[in-house]
Amino acid sequence: MNDWDDTDAFEQAEKRSLSQMAMGARPTPYLEGLNPAQREAVETLSGPVLMLAGAGTGKTKALTSRIVHLLNTGTARPNEILAVTFTNKAAREMKNRVGGMLGEMVEGMPWLGTFHSLCVKILRRHAELVGLKSNFTILDTDDQIRLMKQLIEAEHIDPKRWPPRMLAGIIDSWKNRAWTPLKVPASDGALFNHKGVDLYEQYQARLKTLNAADFGDLLLHVVTIFQAHPDILQQYQRWFKYILVDEYQDTNVAQYLWLRLLASNHKNICCVGDDDQSIYGWRGAEVGNILRFEKDFPGAHVVKLEQNYRSTHHILGAASGVINGNENRLGKTLWTDKKDGDKVRLIGHWDGEEEARWIGDEIENFQRGTRGHDAVSLDEMAILVRASHQMRAFEDRFLTIGLNYRVIGGPRFYERMEIRDAMAYFRVAVSNEDGLAFERIVNTPKRGIGDKAQQIINQAARENGVSLLEGARIVVEEGGLSARARNSLKQLVEGFDRWTTAIRDGAMSHIEVAELILDESGYTDHWKNDKTPEAPGRLENLKELVKALEEFENLQGFLEHVSLIMDNEQEADTPKVSIMTLHAAKGLEFPVVFLPGWEDGLFPSQRAMDETGQKGVEEERRLAYVGITRAEEFCTISFAQNRRVYGQWQTQMASRFVDELPPEHVDVLSAPGLYGGTSGGATMQSDLADKAAKADAYSSPGWKRMQSRTSGMTVIPSKPRKPLIIDAEAVPDFGIGDRVNHGKYGNGTVIGVEADKLSIVFDGGGAKKILASFVQAEDEVPF
Ligand code: ATP
Ligand code: MG
Repeated sequence: MNDWDDTDAFEQAEKRSLSQMAMGARPTPYLEGLNPAQREAVETLSGPVLMLAGAGTGKTKALTSRIVHLLNTGTARPNEILAVTFTNKAAREMKNRVGGMLGEMVEGMPWLGTFHSLCVKILRRHAELVGLKSNFTILDTDDQIRLMKQLIEAEHIDPKRWPPRMLAGIIDSWKNRAWTPLKVPASDGALFNHKGVDLYEQYQARLKTLNAADFGDLLLHVVTIFQAHPDILQQYQRWFKYILVDEYQDTNVAQYLWLRLLASNHKNICCVGDDDQSIYGWRGAEVGNILRFEKDFPGAHVVKLEQNYRSTHHILGAASGVINGNENRLGKTLWTDKKDGDKVRLIGHWDGEEEARWIGDEIENFQRGTRGHDAVSLDEMAILVRASHQMRAFEDRFLTIGLNYRVIGGPRFYERMEIRDAMAYFRVAVSNEDGLAFERIVNTPKRGIGDKAQQIINQAARENGVSLLEGARIVVEEGGLSARARNSLKQLVEGFDRWTTAIRDGAMSHIEVAELILDESGYTDHWKNDKTPEAPGRLENLKELVKALEEFENLQGFLEHVSLIMDNEQEADTPKVSIMTLHAAKGLEFPVVFLPGWEDGLFPSQRAMDETGQKGVEEERRLAYVGITRAEEFCTISFAQNRRVYGQWQTQMASRFVDELPPEHVDVLSAPGLYGGTSGGATMQSDLADKAAKADAYSSPGWKRMQSRTSGMTVIPSKPRKPLIIDAEAVPDFGIGDRVNHGKYGNGTVIGVEADKLSIVFDGGGAKKILASFVQAEDEVPF
């Protein structure tokens, strides 16, 4: 690639000083809308720059303007700028904004993206240095877990006691710290029954034979390559003359190392972030990275931004009040010259359904402009939840009333069974080594290649040190299968030969190849012949999948895209209210925001509190701060007294964060279901009359507080409370082997059942007998 011709790059650099002078005369309208501090951050182009500032102060705007300034002044060409955003959605937005500000088509910003997408690009160029081929597959969590399960079983470890998910978590955390198996410190040696490091090594070896990488590998491999090959690192250091990073507070160690390696030469690195918005500690993010910036880059230019341009006075006041509850923070001044606006509204509901109904009605009110304000488009409204299981109530309600919504980052199209099957075919056709994908479809649709036949294929592959597809070819040639199995396996192997050739020789478009694969493999017919009610929908989805390919140059590009997207892509034709998790809402803003489910145990989440105690609560509080500061004009916080989580009623208490809201910025509304208010609360009440008596909800301290607030807003200092009461009569039905969670002891596996008592072995060590009503199924725990 001549892009990588260094002579060329240096010549360009020489010329640039002249072109810079010539370009310097170009108008800079994008600077005019910035305040002096932002301008300083934008115009200080050389050397390290840090913008550490509160929510909505225009960090992302300044960062985007900085890119425009680099381009506009001719200081850098688009491909010399490395810009990192947290999500693909943010990357797209930034690209669009850069184009908009320059007022012309930017010839692409090839190196603007997420850490993962940027690392994939680099890794494809040097894959062989870590034992992969450049067409390696990116595994999703599902594949990852399946692979780990195989390894765990091969070691004769009981996967019920030592679940693959746990191993995945441990390995991920090592990768987040950029530790290869050799670098894992001895202090972690006892993890996963003393087998963690060994399994990590095996797992990496398996990935290599599968020509695959998981998400953590994308960074780990690139960092490994940079560290082992200074010449390659230098190429990139020279190439990326300017580095910009948004949401720097949420970088993990591997990402931090990656950035430091790339910036260590020219040091033109500009990072922006907010320590109060660090919300990915649970995934290995280190807020210390941002706090240490000046040490890492001595002489850094530090810019403070204090004016919030996003939110009204009351919204900002409420957010600041909550975040003040955290002890470990830098503390920053934030002010706004926006109008006071409406106070943050607070409302308690009878249950989760009531909450969803009420919010649905409110959204329609905003949409119609019946609240004494101008009509608000659905695109300008968002519901931000703590746990994705909260979304279902809203989805159900909105489907019932015909309110358009989009779920961002929720269960996605690409996670559906038929889509995953189809993509597994594509994956094998693109990369014949992809054994996981091959396993998925070797007998889907059913073609008589049962477990036994698959074992024979596996064995042939292992013995000959080849991929499963090649193993299958050997089995076809050498026999060992029934005539039927052999015949259909032969067809499949020949099919892949044809499809791979079709992809490589380019005679057909990749869309035609995709259709060919789905037809010739019998997959489309399989759903055509299926008489279940879901079959037509699945066929529709397959059509949609082929449609989605149109946007890509080839199948590999498409597969890569799918494995990288975290946000739900939808047509932007009709306005829709957005539903997403608080985590996914980082960096975004909406005129109208609803924050439901502010209940202890749900938010702050029980798991965060159990696993990391006070630190966990502080991270949850930052999440509350992120939530409130997404709102521009209207923010409504709500909680429910009763919540049905996967079929079990639970009595909830208002979140401790509710009591931390400064009363002067809050308007307490009365609960509709309790005072005969709107939207059918009465029916709900009769439905739940007996539950109510049992739960005795009104006497809970959280509710009393609500009532006292209605009449004059008493501030009651928050005190430690029992976070979650589980309805004692709704005893869940557990069996041996079930995974459960206990508020105090964490996750464990049921090993015995005696009437209503369970014997549980906890992952953190120890076995206990516990009343079934005191635990929840592990996957019911909000997170
Ligand atoms: P967050 O911490 O949530 O990521 P941020 O600091 O990145 O926020 P931006 O998203 O860049 O903030 O800006 C918040 C809002 O303020 C945006 O609507 C942006 O257009 C607007 N804004 C930023 N700077 C200015 C300015 N100087 N004048 C007017 N509006 C501004
Ligand atoms: Mg931002």
